[in-house]
Amino acid sequence: MKLTKKVFLDLAIYMMSFGVLVGILFIPFTRMLGVPKEYVFTLIFIVSCILAGVAVGVFNYFLTKKIVGKRLKSLSSSMIKAYTHVQNRDYETNPESCLTECLIKVDSEDEIGDSAASFNQLIHAFLDSQKSEKSIRVFTEIFTNELDYKKLAEKALHHLIDYSHADAGLIAIDQGGYLDIASSYLIKDVKAVADSEIIKRCFDSCDKIDIELMESLKIDAGIVSFTPRSILTIPLIYNEQTIGVMLLASAAIFSNDVKNKLISYSHGLALGMQNAVTHERIQKLAVYDSLTKVYNRRFGMQRLGEEYARALRGDYPFGLMMIDIDKFKSINDTYGHLVGDLVLINLCRVIQECVREGDIVVRFGGEEFLIIVTGASLNTTVSLAEKVRRTVEENVLRYSEQEIKITVSVGVSAYPDNRISDTNSLLKLADDNLYHAKETGRNKVVSTKKE
Ligand code: GH3
Ligand code: MG
Ligand code: MG
Repeated sequence: MKLTKKVFLDLAIYMMSFGVLVGILFIPFTRMLGVPKEYVFTLIFIVSCILAGVAVGVFNYFLTKKIVGKRLKSLSSSMIKAYTHVQNRDYETNPESCLTECLIKVDSEDEIGDSAASFNQLIHAFLDSQKSEKSIRVFTEIFTNELDYKKLAEKALHHLIDYSHADAGLIAIDQGGYLDIASSYLIKDVKAVADSEIIKRCFDSCDKIDIELMESLKIDAGIVSFTPRSILTIPLIYNEQTIGVMLLASAAIFSNDVKNKLISYSHGLALGMQNAVTHERIQKLAVYDSLTKVYNRRFGMQRLGEEYARALRGDYPFGLMMIDIDKFKSINDTYGHLVGDLVLINLCRVIQECVREGDIVVRFGGEEFLIIVTGASLNTTVSLAEKVRRTVEENVLRYSEQEIKITVSVGVSAYPDNRISDTNSLLKLADDNLYHAKETGRNKVVSTKKE
């Protein structure tokens, strides 16, 4: 039953009406108590009774308004504050201030107290859901902005540790038969953990494992290290296949809510890691020769152009070696193509051992290789070529009780010792010198200084 549009006005009307009623009822009541008629049925007594009733009604109204109204006002002002925070999206930058400003002090155990407590629960639930939403957004941004496999794992791991309040963790990815530690944080003996039974079990069973003690796992906290109380391993499953495992360790116990969230994150992580791994493989295919794992010709030519431009700018010298296996056809004819392939792989290994890390080894064609010797003069390149030739000559490849030996011929050119005007001329000179080495007996290094 509603009288007006204001609750407190309704209350005032009811209370005053009740006061008038009590005032009227008080008159016969006084008669029943034996007060003589001449005192009761006087205008002044009747008016006094009614006014007293009204006065009690008015007093009650103000009392109610003060006690209940104050609490309702605090409830509404907290709601307005919460609304302002939501409008300004303050909870994203400063959730703590949102909590302190919006929460209501629950000081009564009644409907008003219950309303305040429910409102506080609503604020907590809202902030929790915002935290999850923000966390998912950050996670998605990591996946969309990062394609480098190691960097992606590192960023994702830090985010997961941050979110779950874990103290340490790692992400390991299957790289064709072995688990590569894509990223780890504060785990003492990473290798022992990666090789541990629990990681293997998680990988094989495709199920999360939640344990409290793992012998090999210690958290590295600077000077001291400690054993975590809770360890969670979750498989990273992509296309129904386990592609890796993530492990989080904490000094506290992970809550069920956090565990469930981490499991949902693992699906996104698996997808992101799979993308990054595929991207890396494609990048490698674009750059490396699939058989020998040295740079392919396309990438080698690009690097040669860059090295030449660098030499022109900074007056850096650099040398070029064109290496060709002598009578390689007879190796294939004698031992077969598969062994021929092994010879090529072995030759590249020998070459890599002779050159420095900054030098660029390229498979130029079938059994022909190019080495760009950075920062080297013609003389230095010739010495290095001689070292390569000698090492190859001395090297023996053992294959099912057979000893295979090869020799190589090398043509050398260098800039600026050979005054050429482009990379093609430098290549041609190395090739001409190689031809000369072949013509004059093979297993030798030739460099002619072109003035
Ligand atoms: P030379 O001393 O004049 O260089 O003689 P050669 O036999 O090495 O030269 P030729 O160009 O006649 O033969 C090169 C051989 O290399 C022919 C080809 O079958 C072989 N070859 C090229 N690429 C590969 C490869 O990827 N694997 C194998 N097994 N053989 C290859
Ligand atoms: Mg050859
Ligand atoms: Mg050849």
